[in-house]
Amino acid sequence: VNNETILSVNNIEVIYDHVILVLKGVSLTVPRGGIVAILGANGAGKTTTLKAISNLLGAERGDVTKGSIEFLGEEVQALSPNNLVRRGCIQVMEGRHCFGHLSIEENLLTGAYTRKEGAAVIKRDLEMVYDYFPRLRERRKSQAGYTSGGEQQMCAIGRAMMANPSMILLDEPSMGLAPQLVEEIFEIVKKLNVNEGVSFLLAEQNTSVALRYASYGYILEGGRVVMDGAAKDLAENQDVKEFYLGVG
Ligand code: ATP
Repeated sequence: VNNETILSVNNIEVIYDHVILVLKGVSLTVPRGGIVAILGANGAGKTTTLKAISNLLGAERGDVTKGSIEFLGEEVQALSPNNLVRRGCIQVMEGRHCFGHLSIEENLLTGAYTRKEGAAVIKRDLEMVYDYFPRLRERRKSQAGYTSGGEQQMCAIGRAMMANPSMILLDEPSMGLAPQLVEEIFEIVKKLNVNEGVSFLLAEQNTSVALRYASYGYILEGGRVVMDGAAKDLAENQDVKEFYLGVG
């Protein structure tokens, strides 16, 4: 790992319930300030890879049994998810996970729970999130459980931003959303990347949108990386076109 690399996953193996081998040696790197996509079909191991990084496998009886994971040059497998958040790496889980009974604004504020700065700094960051997500400002008093799927996805990303991260692991942000909303959300991700310098590792089944916004992609099949490359090269690859883009 050098200064240019924010995350490096080296040959990790993940086993669920002591017997189910799901990741069979996955390696990937995310450059500082990059947007990298993990692509692949349902069940390929995308979510497992993200959870391995953020140390969320314990609740699922999963273990990283081989390999190493370095964030900012530090081995992070022994860190709790909270400690990783404090160091700047946070995961937005698939299915959004807003607190349905809290307002949008309360949800966003819970994202700052690991921070020690005073109220003024938190307030400033809340305004920053609202500037990126004007819909959330409009809906700030609404109970999150009654907002749309797109608004909940925005809330989940905004909540992650409230932790002041340098890296966000984003699981399937397009899931269940209309194409126009998917585009809107990816546009905001791109802006957060460019303007705030946040690096992204995103898992997506929507290959075509992911390859338009990411600079690099890894294709997972059966718990292995079967192909990786610059996003524009993957988008033009004949096999990718045929199997993942439904063209060619
Ligand atoms: P999805 O789009 O469904 O999230 P994915 O590519 O993210 O797919 P994973 O969720 O990582 O795939 O699942 C990879 C494999 O691991 C699948 O075969 C799945 O059945 C299995 N798996 C996932 N979670 C568990 C678990 N808690 N216990 C046992 N097997 C699991």
